[in-house]
Amino acid sequence: MALLEIRDLHVSFATRDGIVHAVDGVSLSVDRGRTLGVVGESGSGKSVTALTVMGLTRLPNATIEGHVLLDGVDLLALPGDELRRVRGKRVAMIFQDPLSSLHPLYKIGWQIEEAIRAHERVSEKAARARALEALTEVGIPSPGDRLSSYPHELSGGMRQRVMIAMALVLDPEILIADEPTTALDVTVQAQILDLMRALQAEHGTAVLLITHDLGVIAETADEVAVMYAGRVAELGALVGVLDAPEHPYTWGLLQSLPSADASRDQPLHPIEGTPPSLIAVPSGCPFHPRCPYVMAVCPREEPALLPTRPGHTVACHLPVPTRRRIGAAVRAPNARA
Ligand code: SF4
Repeated sequence: MALLEIRDLHVSFATRDGIVHAVDGVSLSVDRGRTLGVVGESGSGKSVTALTVMGLTRLPNATIEGHVLLDGVDLLALPGDELRRVRGKRVAMIFQDPLSSLHPLYKIGWQIEEAIRAHERVSEKAARARALEALTEVGIPSPGDRLSSYPHELSGGMRQRVMIAMALVLDPEILIADEPTTALDVTVQAQILDLMRALQAEHGTAVLLITHDLGVIAETADEVAVMYAGRVAELGALVGVLDAPEHPYTWGLLQSLPSADASRDQPLHPIEGTPPSLIAVPSGCPFHPRCPYVMAVCPREEPALLPTRPGHTVACHLPVPTRRRIGAAVRAPNARA
């Protein structure tokens, strides 16, 4: 059994403008020590899926259906106080902007100690020793001094290291990382991804990595879910999805990546059009208004997510040989070197 299994998840929000169908029938799973990368543009439902695992979409205007099983226990069925015990301790999360998660008025050491003491009965001294150990493990220089620093005194990369330290200090089974490197420059981004990989290898943590950047997925993930309009468009092992992509939306994401040997001036090919409104999701295949390969059936019938190879599923009406032919041509110039 997978450590985390999301089964047929539906999340919608009632708003003044109508019902926002943020997640529509998503099923995903992550095993211990593995990384599932979830990629898509904004509005694809990837962040709402992650927030729902953490119980952070339990809002008065939200309707949540389906199952989020952690080691067989349905987190969606847990009462709030039990879920709070799971959150932070067994499932931890880091966000794009550490400043939104770190309190600006408290010293870093105190914040990490509080994270520990919220879940475990430990002395102040023991909590401080664990905080110091955590800052050391994530490579913060002079960690003893940094315990007394305020968040604004650190660079963006160092703040993200502090967030990772705070997330991992309780040794969670799952780390959810929502755009963890988006706000960082390329060099620091690579360092943070390296750090996450090293810590994962050391602790055996399962990682659910949410990003709009297929390049980050290529560096980090074992499995990939490509999401569009609240649904999974393509799902499979990293190598299968990047080297033999079969969904036109995945092709679009790959073609909008700079290739390894591209000159700085080489134009990229962004996907035409904009992501759909989740209040009025297009009928049939939700990608049809933007799809260069749209057929008559596409606006009429929603394609099911079906196996195309072992461990690789795709939701598209195009015949499999056509998808494979086009996919092979797409990956050649743009996929990983
Ligand atoms: Fe394009 Fe049709 Fe496939 Fe959707 S089902 S991705 S519109 S070809």
